[in-house]
Amino acid sequence: MNDIGGSNNIAVPGPSAWDQLTSSSAYSQNNNDANASAPTTPTKTTPNEPAPMFTANEELHPDLVLQGWRKCWSKRENRHYFWNKSSGESLWEMPRHFDPLTDPLGICSGGTPAPHNSTALKRRPSEDTQGPPMKRFILAGPWDLEVCSNVIIVERPPTLFPHPYPEVEAMRAAYTIRLIKTYEDLCNRRENIKAPRESFMRWLMERKVIDRGFDPLLPSHCHPEISSSMYREIMNDIPLKIVKPKFTGDARKQLSKYAEAAKNLIEIRSAPAESKKVVKWNAEETFQWLRRTVGASYEDFQDRLAHLKRQCEPHLVATVKGSVEQLCSKIYHLSAEHARKIRERHMQLLKDNGIPPPQPPPAPPILRKVWCYPIQFVIPPLRMPVIEYIHERDHMVIKYSHASMPQPDTQYINLTHLQKLEQLYRYNCYDDKKFDLFIGRVWCLLRRYQTFLGNITGSTNEAELTQSALPVSVFECLHRHFGVTFECFASPLNSYFRQYCSAFSDTDSYFGSRGPFLEFKPLSGSFQANPPMCEELIDATLQQIERLLTDSQEPLSFIVFLPEMKESNLPFMSRVEESHFKRKLVVVPGMVHEYRHGYQHVIPKSEIYMKNIHGTMVVWLQNNEGFSRWGPTESRVEALLEAFRPVRDKERDKAQQDAANATILNPATEPTVRSSTTD
Ligand code: SAH
Repeated sequence: MNDIGGSNNIAVPGPSAWDQLTSSSAYSQNNNDANASAPTTPTKTTPNEPAPMFTANEELHPDLVLQGWRKCWSKRENRHYFWNKSSGESLWEMPRHFDPLTDPLGICSGGTPAPHNSTALKRRPSEDTQGPPMKRFILAGPWDLEVCSNVIIVERPPTLFPHPYPEVEAMRAAYTIRLIKTYEDLCNRRENIKAPRESFMRWLMERKVIDRGFDPLLPSHCHPEISSSMYREIMNDIPLKIVKPKFTGDARKQLSKYAEAAKNLIEIRSAPAESKKVVKWNAEETFQWLRRTVGASYEDFQDRLAHLKRQCEPHLVATVKGSVEQLCSKIYHLSAEHARKIRERHMQLLKDNGIPPPQPPPAPPILRKVWCYPIQFVIPPLRMPVIEYIHERDHMVIKYSHASMPQPDTQYINLTHLQKLEQLYRYNCYDDKKFDLFIGRVWCLLRRYQTFLGNITGSTNEAELTQSALPVSVFECLHRHFGVTFECFASPLNSYFRQYCSAFSDTDSYFGSRGPFLEFKPLSGSFQANPPMCEELIDATLQQIERLLTDSQEPLSFIVFLPEMKESNLPFMSRVEESHFKRKLVVVPGMVHEYRHGYQHVIPKSEIYMKNIHGTMVVWLQNNEGFSRWGPTESRVEALLEAFRPVRDKERDKAQQDAANATILNPATEPTVRSSTTD
């Protein structure tokens, strides 16, 4: 990115491929750039604001200058201060020089960092009204990327995963799609059911709770091999998937179909004679009841179905148990096999480029407390191949081609979210200041999520519930009233904050991810957690939170959002009920609040909000210090419930849109075709 017009002697790098692309549209350029003539993204600054009063930067280490630090003069206080043009941070004291690999935020050298709300060092922009560097690039959208972290962790080693690479990501996608097809085929042929919806993705998430393997997506080292979630979800749909019927007629039909399916299953599968007898007898009895009963009500049919299920289920389960277990085991072994092949190819590519395989770095002599920082890599990245990108109206089409692929693999993202990724990259990525690898990394990220979500053709944008997010107004409230600065469950596409945990530490790290939540060990901070609906992951999350709260003496708070499960007695529910860190539990009723669509980065704006039919349970889990700092007082809880009212988010969006319309000078019109390469 171009440098600001300050008085420093740092060589200004030429425009990157990415700058060239973005400068031709209404796209963001850092509007701190005094020389920039390109139209800028709407910001909170006014065009005629005086330029910041930069003073000589000679005293700053060149690395600090490259990281965006400038030395400025405060008229009000009559003394120097230090301001970071990239992050907007300002300090009264000279920032410490740091090595981005071991100390990305430059906070280790002095031991424990100052707490976030310490006023000793920090200088808030609002403190100096006439003062200089108020100009800063603020990207409008359903997020607030300006919120810095109040989270402190113990320093941790970099990841051993290699950097994502398009050829390998395409290979991973091909193997995963093959695995999904095998899974669907086995469910169909062996169990005579449709593979339960989203069960493959939930399997991936459940396996990752225990996986110790070497692939960021595909499980390859799990004990036990048989997944409880896959087993449970298949069993649930045998002999038939039960959905709540709408009308009495449907309830009747469902009862009859269940009896038929149970009878068929027990006839064609090898089952003990006693099981055959019981199931057939119950099925026959149901048929007779259906024939002789006239005018039965909806409830009668439902009661009868519950009775039939109770009678048959143990026998049906005993009959199919072995084959369902075999199915789960087969999918796991295929996954491990695919993961091994993907790994081999990746290691070969590294070797061909003279990069040795990753080795665990030596353990640091002392573990320091640091502000939490994005995941770092042990090994350097490979050069990116050619990635083509085409700007079409309001979205970007990003294509990767390879000789082994019959056609290019095309990914889509709307421009607002692409701008978000660009800003996150600026804040979190340390090894690609010229953005040469940016578009390739965006392609890998989009490819990974498409594979993860099992969206084989890329054409379905069904409400993707595992990716759906809380409304922006709720996040604003969590930040304002509960000091939240961090999401425990997010992706670079749906995050509200610029720091968060996500499923993939490799593809997501450049965009702010601190890796999967179960590997994250914060000592203090205020967190929001909205885990995807995967029982095992939720249960492990609650256990992890319990451990963290027990171990830390510093202020620690988690506000957890869970689906309200009225009829079920899921294990995680008792964990919530019994936690002695629980400070409060409220339920936001179903149908009166909304979530943001899981494909918010591709679908039209008008389709983003989805009514939530289930209630959402909000639980405050806090240690004593967390409670005294961020406790759920009556007025704060009320503010949160108010923030859930759908109208709040829409009002906010409208205000933002109006502001954007007023500021955009030059909307992009023509499509552009370019390619980025370092080859
Ligand atoms: N950040 C939004 C949306 C949450 S949706 C919010 O808080 O409202 C849940 C997200 O958790 C998804 O993006 C999913 O990909 C991510 N996820 C899945 N497994 C995860 C893990 N182990 N650690 C962190 N995030 C994970």
